[in-house]
Amino acid sequence: MFKIGCHLSISNGFLKTGKTIIELGGNTFQYFSRNPQGGKARPWDQNDFEAFMHYANVQGIEVLLCHAPYTLNACSATPETREFARMVFKSDIEMLEHFPNALYNFHPGSHTGQGVEVGIDQIVEILNEVLYPEMKTTVLLETMSGKGSEIGRSFEEISEIINRVQCKDKIGVCLDTCHVYSAGYDIVNHLEDVLNEFDALIGLERLKAIHLNDSKMPFASNKDRHEKIGLGTIGLDAIVQMINHPKLRHLPFYLETPNEDAGYAQEIELLKKCRTA
Ligand code: FE
Ligand code: FE
Ligand code: ZN
Repeated sequence: MFKIGCHLSISNGFLKTGKTIIELGGNTFQYFSRNPQGGKARPWDQNDFEAFMHYANVQGIEVLLCHAPYTLNACSATPETREFARMVFKSDIEMLEHFPNALYNFHPGSHTGQGVEVGIDQIVEILNEVLYPEMKTTVLLETMSGKGSEIGRSFEEISEIINRVQCKDKIGVCLDTCHVYSAGYDIVNHLEDVLNEFDALIGLERLKAIHLNDSKMPFASNKDRHEKIGLGTIGLDAIVQMINHPKLRHLPFYLETPNEDAGYAQEIELLKKCRTA
């Protein structure tokens, strides 16, 4: 099955959002665990959750991707910010443990002048505190474009974090096509090489989800500006190659393109047409 969806607001609950993604032609969605610019989580609604799980079962929604807020920075120079990251990780994971197989994506962080090595130390420290052997949720490090002091701009940085995490079977990677292209991985002309490099440094078995975005910015610009599918510097051909690639086609794909619902529906329809049997 082609697992395809987009980022949606969960403000009306899981069931309503599930119905929306089915209406848009998809079968999975990404949502923010809480206000992306703030910190407050919506209260857990067990009735909504159970109704959603039933609906998901009937409709074939197999997996959801939860995205941590942008304000979560595990390697900020400010101790209070790192403390907030710890708190958000713990309470988001607790919420996600209701699901049998949740995915939780986060931006590794920005070291805000401390340097990459200190930043990685702090990310590893928090991950080793919040991950535990019995958890069902898989936590995903997102590949980043490398703007500012962002960590996760290279497969080496991501691999170093994973290598130092104790609960290795709880950790995976979400590859963002816009970010990796901006970070200097040429998925347009050398997709095979990029995947081989990912496999050698991280292991393709760690790849659990794809953020499917075109880019407004040129290759290797370290800029993070998403574009609609086919209208950017990556282009439709490269994106179609990725959704059909034998090493990627089993993964869930999430659009984070600048769209309202109607635009998402069009992109989902286009991608479904371009998906090979
Ligand atoms: Fe993200
Ligand atoms: Fe992303
Ligand atoms: Zn982005």
